Amino acid sequence: VPVSVYPARQSADGIVQQVRTGKLKAYCPAGFYDAYAAIHPDGAAVWVRYMVGAVELEPLPDNLTVRVPDYGPEGRDELVEIRTVVISATCPRCGGLRGKVNSTRFVRDGATHSCDTWHNACGHQDAYVTVLAEAQEREALLKRLLPRVYRMRGVPGGLFATAVDLIGDLVADDRMVRAHAAADVLEQAGHVWEAEVIRAYANGSTVRGGMLARSVAVYLNDRDTDRTGIQDTRGGAL
Ligand SMILES: [Zn+2]
Repeated sequence: VPVSVYPARQSADGIVQQVRTGKLKAYCPAGFYDAYAAIHPDGAAVWVRYMVGAVELEPLPDNLTVRVPDYGPEGRDELVEIRTVVISATCPRCGGLRGKVNSTRFVRDGATHSCDTWHNACGHQDAYVTVLAEAQEREALLKRLLPRVYRMRGVPGGLFATAVDLIGDLVADDRMVRAHAAADVLEQAGHVWEAEVIRAYANGSTVRGGMLARSVAVYLNDRDTDRTGIQDTRGGAL
């Protein structure tokens, strides 16, 4: 059932936490209720479900993969193709869970196609056009976020390949991890020489709090690209 809509996502997430941990009197004791926050036109909606007596409750899905017909640009009304897209598991208008997805068949211009249908318990119906638009928005958002989750990798065959791979893992966990912390991890992993190179480079930095590990990784990759891409005329002196 819907509880409330909050203008700020953080407030909604806070309420969800309090429901789950039994911090709110109405939802005591802990474990009797489950809650989630969902995107809503006015901010974030909190929905709660009663857990007692519910055996084998399915976990709440984050998203749904559905097949929907694409009728092309508005007005043309010709079936372009059946698209498989990913959309939110919740209704964009109220945050309630979208209905169970069922496969259906339909005939168009003499050909049989199959796509998905679902009925939302909240009563809001999803038009295929809106679903396609939602999926497109979602993809655009993921593309914008992609550089942030992109994991830094070393130059294959490069002298620092392993070191950069390790730093990439550290940076993926914490983007603000410092070069010196990365050097310590490398040293502990047995890469003493690489750790020394990193420290020497990072010591020249005037950045407050110390140079970032990701800057060092870029530097190491540059050196490896230099060595693998261009004839090394420096006699291999590093
Ligand atoms: Zn709804």
